[in-house]
Amino acid sequence: MKTNIELQQLTDRCVMCGLCLPHCPTYHKTRDEAESPRGRISLIQGLNSGHLPYSEKLAGHLDRCLSCRACEAVCPSGVRYGEIIDGARAALAEQRPPAPRWQRLAWRWTTRLLAERSQLYRATRALRLIQKSGLQTLARFSGITRRGQLARLDALLPPLQALPAWPQYIPARGAARGDVGLFLGCASDAVDRDSLNAAITLLTRLGYGVHLPAAQTCCGALHQHAGESATANEFAQRNLAAFNAQPLAAIISVASGCGATLADYPRAHGNAFTAPVRDISEFLNDISWPEDIRCAPLPKKVAVHDPCTLTHVLRKQQAPYSLLARIPQIDLIPLADNRRCCGAAGSYMLSQPDMAESLRDDKITALKDSGADILLTSNIGCALHLRAGLRAAGMDIEIMHPVTLLARQIKKANSA
Ligand code: SF4
Ligand code: SF4
Repeated sequence: MKTNIELQQLTDRCVMCGLCLPHCPTYHKTRDEAESPRGRISLIQGLNSGHLPYSEKLAGHLDRCLSCRACEAVCPSGVRYGEIIDGARAALAEQRPPAPRWQRLAWRWTTRLLAERSQLYRATRALRLIQKSGLQTLARFSGITRRGQLARLDALLPPLQALPAWPQYIPARGAARGDVGLFLGCASDAVDRDSLNAAITLLTRLGYGVHLPAAQTCCGALHQHAGESATANEFAQRNLAAFNAQPLAAIISVASGCGATLADYPRAHGNAFTAPVRDISEFLNDISWPEDIRCAPLPKKVAVHDPCTLTHVLRKQQAPYSLLARIPQIDLIPLADNRRCCGAAGSYMLSQPDMAESLRDDKITALKDSGADILLTSNIGCALHLRAGLRAAGMDIEIMHPVTLLARQIKKANSA
């Protein structure tokens, strides 16, 4: 956790120029200075110096920040807004009145699921059983899941797949070029095995053996952004030990939200991986490809949603576009207003549903206007949130990770 002096030094870099305001999604929606980066920095300065007491109103303005870091990416003074908001949230967590008991229990249960993969699998399998047995349909029909958080959770849940155990190591196919580690993530592992399997297929086909350390755990993003730095640090130390146990050319993240958090470990936790953290699209894009790998043509319009973590944090938003240019005839278009957050932002879509849905509505409208047949996004949180929006709008558009589409086109070319 940051000391008052550290937080003050970070916020003092802001010269209050306001250049970040037009880039802030919450300011864009509300036109309220207190919902802007500059306004929030002023509130944090007041809270930190003791000039402003804690209040629910003040906490609300900070809670509504998406941590999208669009402001940080455009700030000419180099204000490290991500660190500021995380530090402020950790300080707020100490001043907030305790949450209702059910919320504390739900959060404790979530932490346990994220910390222990076996618990995550058990919960996912139970949900799959509920889906397959028809109980989910029954619950919808009875109205239990029609309102509130249950309705939102129900809308976010995709059809769940079986969860076979991962091997510890998958060797390269053909000429070996080295080994990489694959970060599984929690949400990707539970609900998006297609992306992880596609990443493994591509990496091994390109000559990389893939380590999947069983001791890896959640990246810690949810806790980091909620101001629970001790839990985030515990997760980070476990991941560092799990991946640093073998020599690797890179640690590959498939969900950009996880990748951004892993890449930030040296700053947030004072410890670095021995191998560089690389986004899967970036890594695949930067290595040479054997000439015999072909992709089947895809004569379709494909829209790309750029997650904030890939754009503003990792700053690799071009990687999926360059990678997908390998697919002949693909009509690849960026989704309009791509630099603005979709509202998913970790657990934001559940904790701030009104703002999250308003931001998502803009994306759905942009997608409708684009006439795209497929939507791609590199972050599982964005995918779940946008898929729920598509369903609510009655739009039947496939949504997937860029590497899933690439692996699919390669498979098609080979089976033709
Ligand atoms: S955060 Fe940067 S861009 Fe925004 S007001 Fe402060 S100095 Fe200006
Ligand atoms: S992180 Fe995003 S939502 Fe928060 S102040 Fe910056 S631009 Fe606005």
